[in-house]
Parts: sequence; structure tokens; C-alpha cells
Amino acid sequence: TDTNTDTRSGSGGLRTPIVAVLGHVDHGKTSLLDKIRGSAVTQGESGAITQHIGATAVPLDVISDIAGGLVDPDDFDLPGLLFIDTPGHHSFSTLRSRGGALADIAILVVDVNDGFQPQTIEALDILKRTQTPFVVAANKIDTVPGWNTQEDGPIQASLDAQSDRTRERLDERIYSLIGELSDNDISSDMYWQVRDFQHNAGLVPLSALTGEGIPDLLTVLMGLSQRYMKEEMEIDTTGPGSGTVLEVTEERGFGTTLDVVLYDGTIRTDDTIVVGATNRTIETDVRALLQPRALSEIRTEKQFERTDEVSAAAGVKIAAPDLDDAIAGAPVRVVRDQTLDAVTDDVEAELAEIAVETDENGIVVKADTLGSLEAIANTLQETDIPIVRAEVGDVAARDVAVATTADEQRNRVILGFNVDVLADADDRADHEDIRVFQDDVIYQLVEEYEEYVAEIERAQQDTVLENIMRPCTFRILDDHVFRQSNPAVVGVEVLSGTLHRNSPVVVFDGNDPERVGILKGIQSQGEDLDTARAGESVSVSIDGPTVGRQIKEGDELWTELPEKHAKILEQELRADIPADEREALSRYLDKRRNVDPFWGK
Ligand code: GDP
Repeated sequence: TDTNTDTRSGSGGLRTPIVAVLGHVDHGKTSLLDKIRGSAVTQGESGAITQHIGATAVPLDVISDIAGGLVDPDDFDLPGLLFIDTPGHHSFSTLRSRGGALADIAILVVDVNDGFQPQTIEALDILKRTQTPFVVAANKIDTVPGWNTQEDGPIQASLDAQSDRTRERLDERIYSLIGELSDNDISSDMYWQVRDFQHNAGLVPLSALTGEGIPDLLTVLMGLSQRYMKEEMEIDTTGPGSGTVLEVTEERGFGTTLDVVLYDGTIRTDDTIVVGATNRTIETDVRALLQPRALSEIRTEKQFERTDEVSAAAGVKIAAPDLDDAIAGAPVRVVRDQTLDAVTDDVEAELAEIAVETDENGIVVKADTLGSLEAIANTLQETDIPIVRAEVGDVAARDVAVATTADEQRNRVILGFNVDVLADADDRADHEDIRVFQDDVIYQLVEEYEEYVAEIERAQQDTVLENIMRPCTFRILDDHVFRQSNPAVVGVEVLSGTLHRNSPVVVFDGNDPERVGILKGIQSQGEDLDTARAGESVSVSIDGPTVGRQIKEGDELWTELPEKHAKILEQELRADIPADEREALSRYLDKRRNVDPFWGK
């Protein structure tokens, strides 16, 4: 039924390398894929692209046609390139395989005008972590002022057609990109300057809109795969298939189906498969293997056509019973040469490897796929944020129930990555005061959470500060004794700190503090006050002393600071109190430490 079985099956035992496209939103990922597909359709004379489920195969001879003189098909024995259709690091991290990324190679798209953006960095982090080789597409060169477009040509032809000024403008942008890559520990250069692609990233200036530079991009991808990945591409094309679930979807007439990218071996309609699900494995028999209908037949009623057999690398839809709780990102294995038990063990081991290690206390994390769960868990663990539960799926009421058992407010939290919050979970979270954060960018989700924690900490500090005695020193003014005792009423000037009502008052006789009474009231111009700040003059009533005995005009008095409070102030809140209070604190500590060097430590 299919004239291009060659790209699907690979040839001579070499499979097609799988290519993923990553980058910041709006930097041109979709346009780039469209352009490559479009060029393949219009320029492919000797062959054609093949549409897979979730991927597009571009055979070697089509690449050679697009690349013009840059690619000689005789130099290559890899069958072509398989582009994953869904761009972005989200699908990239979903597409994991045994021990790493499913994509063999990646294109990191960066808008030359916009440079590095948060998702560029996030994509780069994932590429580094999974050790995926990549090419940097410096996109949108046609927007450089004065650009003279050379439609669909190689980059050299475009560069030759530019004025010196325009070349300079492009170079500036490219150099700042190289600088940003270097800031992120990646050394890079124009791809034609790179000798060792294993240690340097090649940059390809291009335009996804005008197609210039696309021949170069395909050439570099092909060359890199041929040079560095040939061994990995050597597979037993007739062996039992291995793949990764890209998506679990409902399909009319077929029920729940799996969109799978097969990266090894073959899958046939009479195979038994084992698929990863939440906390278990599913064993089932293939009912049908489906691929998209060729473009020319797209008008027919049916979207898919059946096929008997698919070989790696390929995207295929698998219809089979019992797939309801299969999860995106999970492994799929064909049971053929090994026993069912052995294959099941294998799948379980792989699921366990992905499984996030949880802590006794921590937050709840939900994500849409195993790969994204792994990615977000990694980020959280790097940031020392503990996780109590990590699962694939929408936020459900039982997740809220787990969050309510948290030991601390900062753990009464659910992070949902690319998932929905079910209605009953939403109600319950509201009711139980559980915070739910949702986002589809990992770093934003983590940032929102960190801001929330900072907010909690500030609030907690404020309450600590409210309940703590504060240092204050004040002086009894001359000729301002209004009453000798019971209580003593005198005029004072606050020297530093804040005077609070109901504070114990001490004087330092030599070095020892002596408590003389309690400051009962503060008055200014006939009004009762709770506090008086440094610099203010007020009259105060002090219960306990008699003026002329324990205290006298001109004396410096202090509010008493309990040792524990002094310690908290000095060690934790120094930055949060005003400068004059800090000064009062230092003087108070000095006085106490003259007698006991360890006071308040
Ligand atoms: P994505 O979010 O990364 O998939 O970005 P898109 O492919 O949707 O592109 C975002 C916008 O940039 C769209 O309006 C595109 O037409 C535009 N765009 C993408 N590539 C180029 C390019 O090379 N040149 C110009 N001028 N515009 C581009």
C-alpha cells in the first residue's frame, strides 16, 4: 500500500535518525518544520516525504534534492531523517527512550533578533542533561535590516548577496548568540568553522520563512548523524520492536489507541505488547496498526490506513484492547523472542528508573507525561524542593488529600504541569486551603512556587518581629520631672529604636543592667500613644522607680531585651530592622557582653 516503505523500514539495517526541534515560543519551530516538509514536497523529485503518526520522514534522496550540491547521496548510507512533528521541549522530554532522549539529534531554534529566552535555556538544559547532540538554527535572518533574500538557497549564496552593512548586522547578532551559548557552557561557531562537532555546537544561520540556509541545516544534520551516530542506527530491523508512547488518544471505531514512536525493531499486527501504565504494566494484543493516509487520499472518509508491519524509526498508531490507563512517555515493547515475564520485567524496570524518588514531606507534583514528570522532578530536586508524591495525570481529589497531610504550609501545595484540575479537586483544594499552581513552562511553575514560599517566609518573619522585644534607648530630659513616683512621670527623648508601651525598663549601672520598672504609658500633647520613634520627645509614666533614687534627670534608660530576643534579632532579623534600632542593638549587646562575652550567642 505504501511506495515509501524504505524510509519506514530503514535499509541495510540502518535506521533513520530521529530529529526533534526545540526553542523558545515564536522563534520559528513550527515554521521550520513546515518549511522542511514544504520543500520536501515541492523539491523532492525522486521520492517524497512520508507522513507518520507524529512524525515526518524525509528520505535521503529528497534531502539531497533540497540541499543541492551540498549533499551527495553516495556519501551517505543512512536512509534519511525522521522529524518529530510536535516541536518544543515538552514533547522532547516526553519522548524518552531507555536511558535517555528518544530523539537522536535536535535543532535548537533561536530567533536572531530575540536571542536567548527562558525556554531557550530550558531547552538547552534538557539537551545537556540528555546529552543530545544539537545544531543551533539562528532563525529569521531575513529580518536583518537591508536583507537581500535568496529564496531556498544555501547560506553562502545569501551571504554573498548582502551589502557589507547587512553582513555586519547579521554577524553582530550571530556573535551575541555565540556569547549567550558560551554563558550557558556551550562552545559554538558557524557550522563551517566547526571541526569537532562532539565538543562544539554548529550554528546555521537560516530563515524558516524564505528557506535560505535550510539546505545547510539538512546537510549538517545528515553529516552529523552519518559521522557520529551510525553505530547507534545499526539495528535489527526484524527484531521485536521498542518504542515510546507519544500520546494516548481516543479514536472513533478503535477506542483508546497509542501514538507510538518506534525506535528499534519491528511491530506486527499479530504481536503481543507490554505497555507502561500508572503503577502497573499492560499486556495486550495488537488489534490494528494505523498510519496516516497518503496526502492524495486525504479526502477519503478514513483518516488512517491499516498496515501489517512497521519498522523503526517510525511513528505509528496502535489499536489494542485495555489501553485506557497507558501513559504518555511510557515504554512499549513487543513480546517475540523473549518470554512475556522477561519483557514485563524490562518495562517495569524502565518505569522504575523514571519513577521519581519521593520524600517523607514535600509537595505534590502532577504532570501530563512520564518524561515531563521526570523533567520537573529533576528541576525541583536541583532546587532542593522536596516531593511527597509525583504522578502522571490531572490533579484529582486524592492529590488534595495527600497535600492536606503536609507538615508545613509550604508543602500544602500541588504543582500541575500541563494538566487540568478536576472539578472536585478544585473545590476540595479551595476548602482545605491547598494551593494549586498550574503552568506549561517548568521554570515558570517552579518560580511561582518559590515566590509563594518567599511570601510565606516574609509573613512568618513579620509575626516573629511583632512578638519580639525591640532595643530602644531614651534619656530623661532636664527639668521634665512631672511626678516623682507611683508612677514616675518624666519627659524623655528617644535616642534610638522604638519605645513601646509595657516594656520593662533598665539602667546600666557600670556594666550590669538593673531593672527599674515597667514603662506603662506614653503621652504626647495630651494623647496616649503606643509607641514613640527615635528623635521624638514624649512624656512617659514608669511604674516602679522614684526620680532621684533609681533614676534621675539626664539618665540614659533602656528597654530590657531578653537574651533570646536579642539573639534572634542579631542572627536572623538584623536586616529587617531600621538602622537606628540596629545601632541600639549593638550598643546593648556590647554592654551585656562586657560582662558575659557569650551573652545572646
Ligand atoms: P514557534 O512558536 O517556535 O513554533 O514559532 P512559529 O513557527 O509559529 O513562528 C512564530 C512567528 O515567527 C510566525 O509569525 C512566523 O511566521 C514567524 N517566523 C518564523 N520564522 C521566520 C523567519 O525565518 N523569518 C520571518 N520573517 N518570520 C518568521
